[in-house]
Amino acid sequence: MSGDFDVLICGASFAGLAVARELAGSGARVLMIDRYDIGERQTSACAAPTDWLSALGLEDSIRQTFPDLVIHTPHATRTYRLPWTFSTFDYRELCALLDDQNDVRFETAKVDGRSGLTVHTDRGDLSAPLIVDALGWRRMLAAPGYQPPEAPLSRGLEVHPHGSGAELEIWIDRRYVPAGYGWSFPAEHEVRVGVGSFDPRFHVKETTVALAEDLDREAVRYQGNWIPHKLRPAAQDEIFFVGDSAGHCLPLTAEGIRTAFYFGIACGRELRAVLEGRASRADALRRYASFSASHRRKFEAMLRVQQLIPRVPPRLLGPAIVAMSSRRFVDWSFSHYLNIAPPSFASAPAPLPAGERLPAAA
Ligand SMILES: Cc1cc2nc3c(=O)[nH]c(=O)nc-3n(C[C@H](O)[C@H](O)[C@H](O)COP(=O)(O)OP(=O)(O)OC[C@H]3O[C@@H](n4cnc5c(N)ncnc54)[C@H](O)[C@@H]3O)c2cc1C
Repeated sequence: MSGDFDVLICGASFAGLAVARELAGSGARVLMIDRYDIGERQTSACAAPTDWLSALGLEDSIRQTFPDLVIHTPHATRTYRLPWTFSTFDYRELCALLDDQNDVRFETAKVDGRSGLTVHTDRGDLSAPLIVDALGWRRMLAAPGYQPPEAPLSRGLEVHPHGSGAELEIWIDRRYVPAGYGWSFPAEHEVRVGVGSFDPRFHVKETTVALAEDLDREAVRYQGNWIPHKLRPAAQDEIFFVGDSAGHCLPLTAEGIRTAFYFGIACGRELRAVLEGRASRADALRRYASFSASHRRKFEAMLRVQQLIPRVPPRLLGPAIVAMSSRRFVDWSFSHYLNIAPPSFASAPAPLPAGERLPAAA
């Protein structure tokens, strides 16, 4: 499999597939690799704003759609009617639908490391002037990478029992996790029940089982991972980083699917400009990095709330979620939240950072 390519996309989950989609029809020699087949290993509870799934033509993968979010605290439960809906989807099906939208070559290979613009894999060395790390939280193609528990990472674990449910629910309750939240996301014939901890040292297995037991669900079919909660540089050493590898998962909510789509599209558009001779690699790296960094204020604001919530005494959490459940506040806050990475971006041209102009195509 060794060889030279125009673009090498490492990682074929949400971020990698979004990058590949933007390169469709470019005529470039693009290779995308992953250690597993596309859609083989589910990496999340797979809930995303419905409008993002529609914007990418992924509706057929949707299993259930929720107009409400139910928040439980030890002393109060509140149902928030959202200004937009969330949907749970089938991971394998979504990946297949997204993969249908590109014309890149795909191979399974395990990435072991990198020297310059050559990526070492268990199937040989691969070189390209444009390399994307969409390999997830480890940020494998950068030195020194990220290692828990010292790195700014959260951890999440969930079980997938068969069953059904009608509500998208979360628990802010120290019985399950001192800093973080628990969830139950139904997806037609299965329910995804899990616990996420903002503190990487807190082990979530016991309390994931406890939450499943409290909900009368079986603790079976586990899946878990580390989740970055801090934005990282999106370009480093001439490599493009997208999705979890760039810390694009939102702090506080740990929502990282739509941001992987969003920044994947932005990265793909920059790569395309290089392939079409409208920009140099250096321009593309600089512009993509500054586009990602232009979201820093919003990511940091969410991180501050993530750090604040565990300090709120449990008896005040109930009144707080009640106070924040007014229609006006929910519409305002959730619209702002969606706009951090809005679904309209899937079809709109990428906004350039202030002062940047792409040279006209030759
Ligand atoms: C338990 C849990 C539940 C979650 N639920 C949600 C949710 O409901 N909604 C939401 O928006 N976000 C959720 N998240 C966060 C979300 O899963 C991530 O933010 C998202 O998966 C990031 O996408 P990505 O493509 O950047 O990385 P990943 O999805 O992690 O994909 C990385 C890809 O790289 C491949 N790879 C890794 N290492 C190598 C290697 N050495 N060689 C070759 N290939 C490799 C992997 O096989 C994988 O396909 C959840 C996270 C967890 C842990």
